[in-house]
Amino acid sequence: MLIIDGKKTAADIRRELHDRVAALSARHGRPPGLAVILVGDDPASQVYVRNKEKACAETGIVSRGIRLSAGVSQHELEAAILELNADPAIDGILLQLPLPRGLDSQCCLNLIDPAKDVDGFHPVNMGRLALGLPGPRPCTPAGVMVLLERHGIGVAGKKAVVVGRSNIVGKPLALMLLHANATVTVCHSRTAGLAGEVRSAELVFAAVGRPGFITADMVRPGAVVVDVGINRTDTGLAGDCDFEGLKGVASAMTPVPGGVGPMTIAQLLTNTVDVWLARTLKD
Ligand code: NDP
Repeated sequence: MLIIDGKKTAADIRRELHDRVAALSARHGRPPGLAVILVGDDPASQVYVRNKEKACAETGIVSRGIRLSAGVSQHELEAAILELNADPAIDGILLQLPLPRGLDSQCCLNLIDPAKDVDGFHPVNMGRLALGLPGPRPCTPAGVMVLLERHGIGVAGKKAVVVGRSNIVGKPLALMLLHANATVTVCHSRTAGLAGEVRSAELVFAAVGRPGFITADMVRPGAVVVDVGINRTDTGLAGDCDFEGLKGVASAMTPVPGGVGPMTIAQLLTNTVDVWLARTLKD
């Protein structure tokens, strides 16, 4: 079984972006700028944000951390977003989710200037994705598509099953696969005969949030399995798939950690460089 190495692919992308940023910063007058808003002190979010800021520094992207206390009001958070929308040194704005209880994340996402929306969650950019128009794409599913592409795994004409239909992973991933000419089925908690659906797929994408949910008996021999899940268990991080059990069944699979996770950050950097180029070319 081929282990699809997201860690190495993401490192390659970071290096390529670093060289691009170094070559283009002088011509564009300044390096790319990314604002990362973190509200509250959720430990997992703090780790994600730290990793994103570290990856920015490695790539030559200037990141500006905006730390707000969990007690910040909706109005104050929205004011911070509007300020960043108007800031010419900021190309991309990332609002780390989930927000503490009492804050409305969709309202905040709707306020981010779509041209600075490096997470691709703004309704305008989700609409662009649905229509197949260019625009920043949600990082995790876009990272999955790049990972497959860089491993020479084509999706056109293949039967793909996506388990999970969230707005940040399952739904946009299904749209991207559709645009790439896969035949796509989306499964969720109300799907009848889920195991049979998964067994019919040549490409399986798991974005469920349940450790070991996809087992060997659910997967057709030779299928490619992409595990998006990141679950914290007593024994460490676990994906949504039974990696050990699937070793003898799948032809290729992403590990957890070291699969989709690093690609999500690499795609954030790619999106930041893309919006920077689009903005500085417009000025
Ligand atoms: P959500 O909780 O938002 O969505 C989970 C989806 O799985 C829902 O559509 C839900 O169905 C479906 N689901 C849950 N239980 C079942 C079940 N028993 N049978 C079938 N479907 C089920 O999660 P996310 O999409 O945000 O994340 C999914 C996983 O991916 C998580 O482990 C998360 O940590 C990870 N993740 C990883 C990232 C990365 O960088 N690698 C980035 C983002 C997420 P329904 O809609 O019906 O409720």
